[in-house]
Order: sequence, then C-alpha cells, then structure tokens
Amino acid sequence: MNENLAVRDSKVIWHPYTQMLSADLPIAIVRAEGAYLYDEAGKGYIDAISSWWTNLHGHAHPHLASAISTQAHTLEHCIFAGFTHAPAVRLAERLLAHLPPTQARFFYSDNGSTAVEVALKMAFQYAYNQAKPRTKVIAFENAYHGDTFGAMAVGARSAFTAPFSPFLFEVEFIPLPTQDNFEAVKQLLLEKLQNKEVASFIFEPLVQGTAGMLTYLPAHLDALIALCKAHDTLTIADEVMTGFGRTGKLFATDYLTQKPDIMCFSKGLTGGFMALGVTTCTAKVYEAFLSEDRYKTFFHGHSYTGNPLACSVALASLDLVEKSDFQQNIDRITAQHTAFAKHISTHPRVGQARHMGTIVAVEIAAGKTSYFSSLRDSLYAFFLSRQILLRPLGNVVYILPPYCITDEDLAKCYQAIEDVLNK
Ligand SMILES: *Cc1c(COP(=O)(O)O)cnc(C)c1O
Repeated sequence: MNENLAVRDSKVIWHPYTQMLSADLPIAIVRAEGAYLYDEAGKGYIDAISSWWTNLHGHAHPHLASAISTQAHTLEHCIFAGFTHAPAVRLAERLLAHLPPTQARFFYSDNGSTAVEVALKMAFQYAYNQAKPRTKVIAFENAYHGDTFGAMAVGARSAFTAPFSPFLFEVEFIPLPTQDNFEAVKQLLLEKLQNKEVASFIFEPLVQGTAGMLTYLPAHLDALIALCKAHDTLTIADEVMTGFGRTGKLFATDYLTQKPDIMCFSKGLTGGFMALGVTTCTAKVYEAFLSEDRYKTFFHGHSYTGNPLACSVALASLDLVEKSDFQQNIDRITAQHTAFAKHISTHPRVGQARHMGTIVAVEIAAGKTSYFSSLRDSLYAFFLSRQILLRPLGNVVYILPPYCITDEDLAKCYQAIEDVLNK
C-alpha cells in the first residue's frame, strides 16, 4: 500500500471517456478548496471547468460540507415511494420559486442523464395516457443530453455513439438556428410538427455545451417553442449544464418569453457536491398521469431518488445562490470573459471566440479537428503544465469556472490560452 495512488488506480480503475491503453496516469487529488484542486505533492490546479461543469461556489465549501454532515447524522437516505422527507420537499418548494411560474411538480432522480430519461418518458407517456400516442422526438443537431440510451438517442450521432447506433430510437434533428438559416429552421420544424407524431422537442437552451459551447439567440428559441406549443408538442429544456448561473442568469430559460413544459437539472444543482437530478413539469403534464386507471401511473424511479444528503446540500447551495454576491460574481466573470473574447477574437489563430455569461470558448482555427485530434491532447497537456485544468472539446478551449474564481486566476487562464495560441 506504499505505492503511489495513481499506480494503484491504474491496476483497478476504468475511467470515463479514457482510452486506458494510452492514457497518462491520472492525477491523484487529495483535497480541494475554492477554485483549486491539490495533488499528492501539494501542487494546486485551477479548476477552470468546474470539475465537469458541476461546481458553483468552490470546492469543499464549509457551508455545503456542514449541511451534508448534519443531514448524514439525521437521515442519510430513505425510500421515496410511499415516504418523504423535509429536504426533498423544501428543495422543491424553494427551487420552484426560481423557476418559470408554470413549473409545478418535481420528479427526482440522480444525475443529468436520468433527468433527461425521465423527461423523455414523461413526454411519451403524456401522449400515450391521452390515447394519442406520439413516437417522435425533435432535437438539435450537435446536441448532447447524456450517455444513457434515451439521452444518447436524442443527442448527435458521433464516434461516441457509433457502437450503439442500432439501439438508438429515431430522432428528427434540426439545425441550430442562426441569423442566416432561421427561417429555414422554422419551416423545417413546422413540417416535422405537421407531418409526424411529435411527442417532444428537447434542447439545451441557448448554449450547446458538449458541441463546443455553441450559442444561439433567445428570440430564435422562443419562436421554435411557440411553434411546438401551437402543435401541442411538449418542449423540454435541458438545463443540466446551463442551470444555476452559467449563462449569466440563474437559468437560460430566464432569457425566454416562451416557457418550456418540462425542465431538467443536475450538475450545479447541488453546488457540485453530490449526484442529484430533477425533472420538473407543468400541472398540465402532471395531470395527464392522474387517473383511476392505474396503468397511467409514471412507472419510473431510482434507488437513490430524492436522496436527503443530496437534497440538503442543494438547499445549502441555494442559500448561497440567493445571496447578492452570487450574481455579483457571475457579472464580474461575465465582464472579464467579454473583454477576453473581444481581445482574443482578433488573434490570427482564432476561428471564433464565443461567450455567454460565465462561459467563454475559443475555437482554434486548425483545419478539421475532433475530440480525438492530437491538438486537443497537446492543448490539455499544455494547460496542465501551467497547473490549469482546461479540457478542450476538440479544437475548442473553453473556461467555465466556479464563481469564486478570482480575477487573478481568470487572468492566468486567459494568459495560458493566449500563450498556447502564440506557440
Ligand atoms: C452533462 C449533461 C448531461 C448529462 O448529465 P450527467 O450527470 O453527466 O449524466 C445532460 N445534458 C446536458 C446538457 C449536459 O451538459
């Protein structure tokens, strides 16, 4: 047991999104604080991607840590069918106050993919329960909604999904709207809504994260949602990444005038402390499941549904979300990102610099690249050598930081990106 942790890891662990044959030994993290992860030697890394988009207020935040601890000494978990508990009820009550007023019901699960699975199943069964089954889903090209089968099916087909393509249900994809194609996209959506039995339209509101932080306009999304409403097709806003301030407002849907029927949350929901998923829906959706006919029940659930530890830390996170410095930090980061994007967009090796709220993305012009490109690997290694965790999506380098990140640390991230462009 004297062997170093990374070597022991390499004998027993299988890591996500990792080619284990060629991967470098993982970096063993022993503790974390604020925006920093610390390895065995005490070396600190700026967590500039919030540990896969989860962390909001900084690592090991004492307010969140003590909430879990207190809850663990009181009620760590109990079955959520036939039973309930205060953290789950309070979280629903408190979060509802921040959601569009049409959202009425909370369905708990335990991660982003399951929140999406629940949303898709709700939408299919919503139609089924009214004896007018609808079998199609519309999604955006380049979408990402998670790694389970339903979530994969409504995401872009890629090398990642190729082994599973025979098992993914058919989905109608439409392009992301731009100024140039907007009328055509609207027309295409209209045709699909008229000609197919469409149960739902699922989208990442305003920013497609995994696609490389591709942004699009609220007015465009509003128009597409309005078309769906006119055709009694449910709309699903997947706020798993965009939720809790990433886009500058608490939720990306806060930029919209048309509100979705169903919403999915995870990642930042617990401040990045615990796995938790929530799917919320309107009263109209919920009421389609109320019946004397027991077959209209929503038969879905997970062992850790509504876990009290996760709910209590989500409540503690909401305490911080509701403090004034939460929005101040978001606005501060937004201003820094805006200035950086403007500055870096003129660099000859930058294809495009995109930013929205606390997210900034720099697309490096380097011909055709992908997640598998060596450019991506060398960028990743370069940033690590600067003690910054930045995990490029193909040729797109993005920063999506915890809101406690200092201006000084942000400047280090910007400088590292500029330096790598100059190399
Ligand atoms: C990450 C992500 C998911 C999946 O969440 P997991 O918790 O990783 O399963 C779903 N939708 C979007 C938009 C995401 O970014």
